[in-house]
Amino acid sequence: MTSVNNPPADPGCVFCKIVAGSIPCHKVFETEHLLSFLDIGPLARGHILLIPKAHYVTLDELPEDLAAGCAQALPRLARALKAATGASDYNLLENNGALAGQVVKHVHFHLIPRAEGDGLGYRWPAGKLDAAEAERLKKAFAAELG
Ligand code: 5GP
Ligand code: ZN
Repeated sequence: MTSVNNPPADPGCVFCKIVAGSIPCHKVFETEHLLSFLDIGPLARGHILLIPKAHYVTLDELPEDLAAGCAQALPRLARALKAATGASDYNLLENNGALAGQVVKHVHFHLIPRAEGDGLGYRWPAGKLDAAEAERLKKAFAAELG
């Protein structure tokens, strides 16, 4: 997995400080490149975060092998979260950029247990896909993805 070309730790980043051990955390899982720990401001009991140890800000910056490592760890963490909390349902959330609600500028995946009546809600104000716009968007994506 990528490590030689990873960006250096950001001295102002709280998650880099957690990786370095200069700020404590309640660790639940660790590999050479990944760390998972309890969120300090949980939305629900057992809310955890998974981070790559290297300081990347958003998902689109992640090298593919590191992204694959995250994806590989998530189902196992989700199973552990269900077992540890008794929750049957959970949200996977990953915010990119301030407009999307990202506060800590170091890539992180939230795993949030859900329960009946937990009050967290779920906002999904769906629109309607316009056919012409869909064709334009498909072309724009194809120009990037082939
Ligand atoms: P974001 O809004 O950036 O997606 O979420 C950042 C998350 O990091 C928040 O849920 C917040 O509670 C958590 N967080 C911020 N600082 C710390 C910290 O020092 N320790 C831990 N464990 N979590 C933190
Ligand atoms: Zn960082």
